[in-house]
Formats: sequence, structure tokens, C-alpha cells
Amino acid sequence: MIGIPWRVLVTGGAGFIGGHVVRRLLCEKRDVTRVVILDLLSYAGSMGNISDCLSDARCEFVKGDIADQALVTRLLRTYQINAVIHLAAETHVDRSIYGPMAFAQTNTMGTVMLLEAVRQHWEGLSAPEQTSFRFLHVSTDEVYGSIEQGKFLDTDPYRPNSPYSASKAAADHFVRAWHQTYGLPTLTSHCSNNFGPYQHPEKLIPRAIRAVLTGGTIPLYGGGAQVRDWLYVSDHADFLWFYLNHGDVGTVVNIGGECEWQNRALLQKVVTIVASRLGLSQDDALKCIVESADRPGHDRRYAIDNQKVRAMGWHRWTNFERALTETIDWYLTHKDWLTRRQSYELATDGH
Ligand code: NAD
Repeated sequence: MIGIPWRVLVTGGAGFIGGHVVRRLLCEKRDVTRVVILDLLSYAGSMGNISDCLSDARCEFVKGDIADQALVTRLLRTYQINAVIHLAAETHVDRSIYGPMAFAQTNTMGTVMLLEAVRQHWEGLSAPEQTSFRFLHVSTDEVYGSIEQGKFLDTDPYRPNSPYSASKAAADHFVRAWHQTYGLPTLTSHCSNNFGPYQHPEKLIPRAIRAVLTGGTIPLYGGGAQVRDWLYVSDHADFLWFYLNHGDVGTVVNIGGECEWQNRALLQKVVTIVASRLGLSQDDALKCIVESADRPGHDRRYAIDNQKVRAMGWHRWTNFERALTETIDWYLTHKDWLTRRQSYELATDGH
């Protein structure tokens, strides 16, 4: 039994993936009657990511912290929320190396505070409402650490290597515990690297585009041999909608793009496409990629096994090459968005 029509609280909805999730939910004219975005608008969030969504009368934006239990409780009650999609987080791995406490605070403790506010609300619902309620927690493939061969399964042991992945792994355990101990109807997904419009330019693909546009540089860590599995953000948002409706309570799934790229090859591809779009010399443009020392705890390869989501009946829609080109074209036609966002000089690796 599911909760249609959904009244969804989306945490981190003004972030990159969150904005796409909100957009995907609002496509469902009958089955989604309310989308409430709760976002602290940290440096990573932006109203510009969701301005098109806010003209929809079903969509509300609330600035606030997931750890503010009084606020969360008020939103759950006021809007009679029957699903939470939890994306709010500190997400940049490099930042987690230089400032781990914010990651423990938001990703782990913030999730616990949110879970507890949701649990107390959920316990006050009628039995049918409790049954149809969902708490969908969006996690990362990075909790599994690095894999040399084969692909991550959702049954693999956790081996987080960065403060970011450790903070997400800890949150995953709390979500599991709130299901096992209190019966909260949870769903947990681990996704691979996302790409698409509205991603903060501290992350690999938009940062590379901006480097070509502005004559800047982008560091390539440790020879660029690391492999990442790229998932188009609209496919991810589509999957989350599918999982909300069809996922069995208490389950965990992995969702990837089935599209592995070495960082060096991907950066070169992005820079080359941007250069050709701008009519620049490709050789000159490629000089923006600067070899850099490897970062500590750097995972060598992530790869997701999608068999479980395929068996559930979900299929990826997007062709990688086309999605990448469309993404690059989006940034080139939204130069203001790209350059207005605060600039961060930390090196990047997709996350
Ligand atoms: P993002 O950094 O673009 O957005 C995060 C959002 O969370 C921002 O809008 C920020 O303002 C908000 N936020 C931060 N702290 C908050 C708090 N205390 N209360 C309320 N809002 C807060 O991140 P993203 O790339 O959209 O990632 C979303 C989720 O997906 C995260 O949980 C992340 O761990 C997970 N994920 C992302 C990727 C990826 O490739 N982007 C891959 C795997 C998993």
C-alpha cells in the first residue's frame, strides 16, 4: 500500500539533485499534491536551482535546517506529509578532508535529528497512514569504499575512506536502525556520481566547463586513473520516484549509470566538447587540466551493479553521450548561473 496522493518533504531540495527531484515530482499532476522543500541554503544550495518549480502552486520553499526538530515537526503536521525524500547533506569530499566536523554534524547528526522528528510524527498517525508513509534516504556508493574488479552490491560491507563517506555511512546505519527498532518505513538508495544541469561548479564537470570559459585550471588528481560510474541526474530523479512508489519497505538499492569513465578521459572529453562549441583550439583548451598530487584516502574505482533495480522494473532512459552534450550546452547557455555561484578553489573528483 502506498501513499498516493503524495505530499512530499524534500530535504536539500535547493541543491543539485534535490532540484531535479522536485521537478520530477511536480510532473506527477495527479499523484503529487504537495512538495515542500526544506533547505538551509548553504553555499551549495540556490533558489536559482528551483525558481521554475516555485511557480507551481503545489510547491513551497522553507529555509531551515534538518536538525531543527520543531520546524520539521511543524512542516510534517501543517502539510500532512506522507513521504520524506532526504537529500540534504554536505557533499564535497575535498571539503570533508579539510573540515570533517560539518559533515559529521549535518550528514550524521542532522539525519538522526530528522529521523527522530519524523518518527515522532509517524507514531501519531493512524495505522493505514503509518503503513503508507515513506522515508527515502539518498546515500552514496562511496560508503562501500573502492572496488578493483566487479561491481558494488547492496549487500557489500561498508568501507568508507573519506570523512564524507563515513558520515553518510553512519547516517545509513541510523536509517536502518530506525526501521529495525521503531518500524519507520524506510527506503535507502546508494547512487553513483551524478551529472547534469545545476550542479555546483566545485564539482568535476561544471568546474571543467568553467575552467575553459574563464581561462582557469582544473586539477587532475594522481594521474587521473580513478574510475567513476556516471549517472544522469534526471535518470536518478526518475529512479527515486519509481523507488518511492515500488520499493519494499526496509530495502536498500544501488543505482548507477552503467557508464564508467577514467577521470582523465572524462575531463579531456568535456574540455574538448566545450572548446569545439566555443570555437577554441582543443590543444590550448586541454592545458586547463593540471596534474596534481593525489588526495588522501582517494578511492580508485566505484562501479554499481544495477541488476536489482532492473529486476524491480526500472530502466535508465538516457544515453550518456547525448546527456553529456546537453549538459555542456546547458552550462554554456547559463554562463551567468555558472560564474555567479561562489568560486571554490578546492580540487574536485566528481563529488
Ligand atoms: P548539493 O551539495 O548540491 O546539495 C545539498 C543541499 O543540501 C544544498 O541545497 C544545501 O543547502 C542543503 N543543506 C546542507 N545542509 C543542510 C541542512 N543542515 N539542512 C537543510 N539543508 C541543508 O548535493 P547533491 O549533489 O544534490 O547531493 C544530494 C544528496 O545525494 C546528498 O545526500 C549526497 O550525499 C547524495 N549523493 C550525491 C551524489 C552526486 O554525484 N551529486 C552522488 C551520491 C550521493
